[in-house]
Amino acid sequence: MKYTITLIPGDGIGPEITDAAVRCVEAAGVDVKWDVCRAGGDIMKETGDPLPKEVLDSIRKNKIAIKGPVTTPVGSGFRSINVKLRKDLGLYACLRPCKSYKGVRSRYKDIDLVVIRENTEDLYAGIEFEKGAKVTKKVIRAVEEASGKAIADGSGISIKPISASGSRRIVRFAFEYAVKNNRKKVTAVHKANIMKYTDGLFLECAKEVAREYEGRVEFEDRIVDNMCMQLIQKPELYDCIVLPNLYGDIISDLCAGLVGGLGMAPGANIGDDIALFEATHGSAPKYRGKNKVNPSAMILSAVMMLRHIKENEKASRLEAALASVIEKGASVTYDMKKDRNDPSAVGTKEMAAAVIKAMK
Ligand code: NAD
Repeated sequence: MKYTITLIPGDGIGPEITDAAVRCVEAAGVDVKWDVCRAGGDIMKETGDPLPKEVLDSIRKNKIAIKGPVTTPVGSGFRSINVKLRKDLGLYACLRPCKSYKGVRSRYKDIDLVVIRENTEDLYAGIEFEKGAKVTKKVIRAVEEASGKAIADGSGISIKPISASGSRRIVRFAFEYAVKNNRKKVTAVHKANIMKYTDGLFLECAKEVAREYEGRVEFEDRIVDNMCMQLIQKPELYDCIVLPNLYGDIISDLCAGLVGGLGMAPGANIGDDIALFEATHGSAPKYRGKNKVNPSAMILSAVMMLRHIKENEKASRLEAALASVIEKGASVTYDMKKDRNDPSAVGTKEMAAAVIKAMK
């Protein structure tokens, strides 16, 4: 079967690592017509728009996309295009598996966790009021009146909306993922002891959904600060972890750290009928065009994409080939070597070539 997939190379190191992933997918024997779309800082400089409408149209049409990272300039007028893509396409679930591969340098072995992060609500909803603005003073007065509590002069305000429908939807996604992937347990993470009406609601919804899966998937909850400590001390106790947006962002990076860092952390943003696959890491602008960075997170994101389109056998072949290259440790990038200045480290292209060779 021939697939049409939207390919967004991104900017910074994006084009190099997406090229590596594309070559690996093709070498695995999957027949793809890539619908290449530009988004990010580079196209913004040329056209003034970092996310042209054609990109969204292409993803809506093809339903599957793979994307390199894009740079979000700090302090410029444009909000993250990643946040916009997730919101506009209804990609409410961010799926980040964190798995140990032999040969990766990490303090931990045998990690096999899946982080499932809510992608559209919470403090990342983008509802913010700047310190000193007229509207902010109005919001502060209204909140003071409604809550009977004072807010310090000159405060900035960020709003944290968490809905029952959004919470049920992400928790159900986590349980369905667990059932389909033969996982044993879902842990809901929150700070319900402090934020009763937002995290408390998330927890209440999680318990409600968990009842539907009783006897099939175990359920428990953890307070987020305790969860951080537990993941460092005994990660083997956890399996699928479901969280609201902000905690999900933080815990994803913590879990990436358990399995060897950002170079090894793949991800997917999934909605009801659209899925967009991308590495957890960013565009690392200082390495742009240097053929230096690790393509593994992007290749593993492609493996997730192949499983999503049910090309399971080809996905497993690609994953096994990457695992064998990492285990041998010869054809790997600088970040996977014991000494980061090891002259035997290979470049992005050469590591991808070694993976392709290992599939033959
Ligand atoms: P980053 O992930 O781009 O880089 C941080 C550091 O991690 C790099 O300097 C590098 O040392 C290392 N690193 C990252 N990817 C690597 C790889 N594949 N191989 C080896 N080392 C790697 O994070 P940042 O510097 O905070 O962000 C840079 C830009 O990326 C920002 O504009 C940010 O907004 C954007 N960003 C985009 C996405 C996305 O598009 N999904 C995600 C995160 C950050």
